[in-house]
Formats: sequence, C-alpha cells, structure tokens
Amino acid sequence: MKDVRNVIVIGSGPAGLTAALYTARANLKPVVVEGLEAGGQLMLTTLVENFPGFPKGVMGPELMNDMRAQAEHFGAEIVRAQVTSVDLMTRPYVVRTPDAEYRCRSLVIATGASSRLLGLPSERGLIGRGISTCATCDGYFFRGHDIAVVGGGDSAMEEAVYLTRFANKVTLVHRRETLRASKIMQDKARANPKIAWILNSEVEDIKASDKGEVVGMVVRNNQTGERQEVPVAGVFVAIGHTPNTALFRGQLELDQNGYIITRDGSKTSIAGVFACGDVQDHVYRQAITAAGTGCMAAIDAEHYLDNIPEHLASV
Ligand code: NAP
Repeated sequence: MKDVRNVIVIGSGPAGLTAALYTARANLKPVVVEGLEAGGQLMLTTLVENFPGFPKGVMGPELMNDMRAQAEHFGAEIVRAQVTSVDLMTRPYVVRTPDAEYRCRSLVIATGASSRLLGLPSERGLIGRGISTCATCDGYFFRGHDIAVVGGGDSAMEEAVYLTRFANKVTLVHRRETLRASKIMQDKARANPKIAWILNSEVEDIKASDKGEVVGMVVRNNQTGERQEVPVAGVFVAIGHTPNTALFRGQLELDQNGYIITRDGSKTSIAGVFACGDVQDHVYRQAITAAGTGCMAAIDAEHYLDNIPEHLASV
C-alpha cells in the first residue's frame, strides 16, 4: 500500500517536534499531526531560561516555531489538525482527523499533558504574566517577591518549598483543612518559615495591574465565607495535570493516573507504538526532557522499522 506512512507523530511540543526532526533526518518522511494546541505548553510561556543553548533565554513560542521550522527543513510534513481517533488494533495503524485517515507502520505519541487550571476568567490571559503552572520554569522571575501556590498535593508542597529559594514569602492556598500530599512532603513544607498557609480557602479572583501584571488574589474561606485580598506578584497553580491520553484508553497500557506506561526506552504496550514527553512523564515535565525522550522515540521507531517483520513491512 503506497499511502502507508513509516511514522506518524501525534503532537507538536518539544517531544513531537524532536521525534519529527530525527525521523525526518533518518529519511522516514514523518507526518506530524500537530493538534489544536500546536507547539504545546511552551506556547503559553514567555521567557524560557532553562533550555540549553540560549544564554539570554528564548521566548517559548519562538523556540517552538524554530523547532517546527527545523523539522520541516528536513522533510517532516506537518498537518494542521486534531486527531479524532486511532486504531492500534489493526496493522497498519490508523490515525483519523476530521478530514483524513492516515495509515502508518509506526506511531510516536507526543500528545503531552495539560496543567489543570482554576477556571477563573482572568486566568488564561495572565499565564506567563504572573500566573504559572511551572515553578522550575518561572520561579526565578519572582526573586524577592511575595507569591502564592494553589493546591494541596505533592506538587504544591514541592513547588512551594522550591519557590522559597527565590520568593520573600510563599502563601500556600488549599481548599481543604487536610492536605493530600505525602507526610514527608507536608513536613518539609510546614517546617519552612517562608511558607504561610491559608486553608479551607479558594482563590476567587486574581487581580492584575493596568500593565497586565498580577498584583494580588482574592481568597474566600469556604467555611466562614470570609474574603481577603492578598497582595502577590505571582500565583503558581499546582492542582495537577491531565495527560492527553483519551485517544488511547482501552488500547494502550496506562497507569492509574492515565499516563502511558513506557518501558525499555519509549516502547508502549504495542510494538511499533512509542510515547515521549509529558504524556508518559509525570515527574520531570521539562522541555529538555521532552525533547530528549522525543529523540529516544525516533531512534526506537527507526530500529523498529529496520527490523519489522516482512509481512508487516509489505502492508
Ligand atoms: P494531586 O495529587 O492530584 O493533587 C492536586 C491538589 O490540587 C489536591 O490537593 C486538590 O485538592 C487540589 N485541587 C484539584 N483541583 C482543584 C481546584 N479546581 N481548585 C483548587 N484545588 C484543586 O496532583 P499533584 O500534586 O500534581 O500530584 C500528582 C501525582 O504526582 C501524585 O501521585 C503525586 O504524589 C506525584 N508527585 C510526587 C512528587 C514527589 O514525590 N516528589 C512530586 C510531585 C508530584 P483536594 O486535595 O481537595 O482534592
């Protein structure tokens, strides 16, 4: 079948575009279905200072546009569409978009994870301008400021403790009295004198200045109904992530939180299907680690295609 592709990459963040670059340079003519949030989470950031090779930092969208151009330069075909379904139970694999149906011998899944947000009207517009979902990425910008972390899980504790390296004071806001975080993480956070606690409370609004920078938040105690305005320069939302794996549920092995399980590099539970980036990583979640695993998936796909059984290669 002439229209069977060697590799389809689903997703166009650092993982997907690195997989595309490597498979393109291996002359596998990859097709990248970029998804609705083309470029991934870095498109929502401003200055990225922790991607090696940019001593003065690089704007997230600029980095992603360059990665895309680099993959295209070597022959990756990028399709502007969202995948609506996949069939991994047949060979070749089938990938459907609203307008087309693609078939492929190997598949690289790089659909990422989405940070959960609070759902406030002001939230999306202030991401990268004082609201962040990544302490490792943005903590440095808040040296000497008062900031807040929202959430009661391990991520919130970890981020709050990490942020005390930079911030003057970190206020942790959690919607219940009891924290969800493990005891060891709670103890570490509670022992830190730079962390203040507002429990049984929800962030109702995040206030911005005329310049569009965060200046404070309105917090409502859900037991008493009392509201307070807390001046902060930044709000880190750490209420969990959702891996984008709905397409693969029932076809690939997922962990209890819905992340794709990879073994032996980027291999999933189906031969010829590889996963990279945040869709299979709830620990590191960095652009550079996503790019690294994208490279691994490309090399794994290349090896797979080199050794593909004859009867599968001919389809
Ligand atoms: P999580 O454990 O699901 O915790 C999410 C927290 O956010 C919960 O406290 C939850 O409140 C709160 N929350 C959820 N939706 C909210 C909303 N709309 N408004 C306000 N608060 C909301 O997520 P996570 O902390 O990202 O951790 C995910 C997994 O990674 C966990 O298994 C965790 O153990 C692991 N992890 C481990 C480490 C480590 O060991 N170093 C570090 C980070 C993460 P409720 O408690 O009321 O539900």
